[in-house]
Amino acid sequence: GLVPTMGFLHEGHTSLMQRAGKENDKTIATIFVNPLQFAEGEDLSSYPQNLEKDISECEAIGIDLLFAPSSEEMYSQPILTSVQIDQLMNSVEGASRPTHFSGVATVVAKLFNIVGPCNAYFGEKDWQQLQVISTMVRDLSFRVKVLGCPTVRQSDGLALSSRNAYLSLEERKAATALSRSLQSASENVQAGETSAAVIKSQIIDEITDEALVTLDYVEIVEGSSLIRIDQISEGARILIAAKVGKARLIDNADPYFGIK
Ligand code: AMP
Repeated sequence: GLVPTMGFLHEGHTSLMQRAGKENDKTIATIFVNPLQFAEGEDLSSYPQNLEKDISECEAIGIDLLFAPSSEEMYSQPILTSVQIDQLMNSVEGASRPTHFSGVATVVAKLFNIVGPCNAYFGEKDWQQLQVISTMVRDLSFRVKVLGCPTVRQSDGLALSSRNAYLSLEERKAATALSRSLQSASENVQAGETSAAVIKSQIIDEITDEALVTLDYVEIVEGSSLIRIDQISEGARILIAAKVGKARLIDNADPYFGIK
């Protein structure tokens, strides 16, 4: 069982590790803050790290092997190859971060080849990333089974993220607007609303009310292709990104399920 991460572990990560431990004879976790997936001006240099604490956490969970390479080890030669996935990489989060998913897919392809055939665990928290990796595995016949795992949240709904460490106390409170708006949108869909435009504008209003939160996008898409839809039906996914102070946060939900 393989669990790739960028470290600064929280319960979202450890839920993946625990599941991998239950479902496999041996577990490998990786910690690598992958420069390829950060664009100029993003938070590569300030990304939170605490390798000592992460190592103890992995030991406590019973991870058999932790791979935490340096950038020099991963990219000892300039990297000329990259993984590109048409459509899936350019929409939604990819429209805001045009080089991001190619960087993710390329490093995950490397990790899959380093580790070999495995079950690989990814969080639904990064919904589009999960679709990107699943599509890459299918298209390029990796001997990997990709398993998506539910988003772990704090009791007030905020999705756990290493980037939550950037938030001040006030920003931390305001950040609940993301999950709150996803939940109230989901309740409306469950009550019968199917217009994506109506649900989107409801979310925009709710997030705009929160002065410390600046919405980047809200998109309603078919969950696996990430293609925008006008009418919400089974398989739809609502994705949000917003800036809260220094942190850029993302969240998503299946409107027929909500954030619970
Ligand atoms: P990261 O270290 O942020 O790259 O995340 C590593 C893995 O943990 C990815 O598969 C993420 O989707 C997953 N992950 C991050 N946050 C959460 C969360 N709150 N719940 C579940 N999985 C998560």
